[in-house]
Amino acid sequence: MIEFTNLNKWFGSLHVLKDIDLSVAKGEVVVVCGPSGSGKSTLIRCVNGLEPFQKGRLVVDGFDLGSRSARLRELRMEVGFVFQSFNLYPHKTALENVTLAPIHVRGLSKAEAEDRGRALLEKVGLADRMQNYPHQLSGGQQQRVAIARSLCMQPKIMLFDEPTSALDPEMINEVLDVMVSLAREGMTMMVVTHEMGFARKVADRVIFMDRGAIVETADPESFFTNPRSERSRDFLSKVL
Ligand code: ADP
Ligand code: MG
Repeated sequence: MIEFTNLNKWFGSLHVLKDIDLSVAKGEVVVVCGPSGSGKSTLIRCVNGLEPFQKGRLVVDGFDLGSRSARLRELRMEVGFVFQSFNLYPHKTALENVTLAPIHVRGLSKAEAEDRGRALLEKVGLADRMQNYPHQLSGGQQQRVAIARSLCMQPKIMLFDEPTSALDPEMINEVLDVMVSLAREGMTMMVVTHEMGFARKVADRVIFMDRGAIVETADPESFFTNPRSERSRDFLSKVL
């Protein structure tokens, strides 16, 4: 589903992604961790075409992102993205937030989109919150609306960039639970997170990045119990 081959990216003179080789199969869950500034966000932003790159290759669900004619609009329909800040439309209800893109981008009828949207809001535990506006919802509820909004486009891949790091501690699990069930249903996911419990539970692989490079790739159990590099050991001693 996702194939990076020797990908390199610079921001001016800053070499922000270095020789990235990574492939993610359909249904796989890959957790990306590493210190702040190591390139995690930039890496996953490349996957839905938010960041151009200068060298190497990236193919996502058959879309070659290096080609000049890359059909980014089509690609973005296949790739959902959930950020740290929920970015809901403040003047739309939860249900309207979820159905807007399916109606305007996918061309669903309002009735179809609302059926789908209601089912998804139920699935994320917000059956009784559909008519609420974002300011009437807690952070954890808003983030679950944001996840339902992405899912309503029926993406093939979901990207998460520190989805729980803006949340109060008591709300983290309600969001992680939704992500766990998504993973168990077979969604292809790349997740930037420091929630090591989540990684242990559902990640097929953990990738540790430092200074723009993938320093270590391992299954979660061996990563946590026996990290190979000095830098990942140092990182784990800080987050665990
Ligand atoms: P992480 O998500 O691991 O914290 P980022 O991918 O956000 O790291 O950033 C990697 C590096 O690229 C950092 O040094 C950051 O300051 C830099 N960077 C990120 N975005 C930009 C940008 N738009 N322009 C210039 N430098 C950037
Ligand atoms: Mg980041």
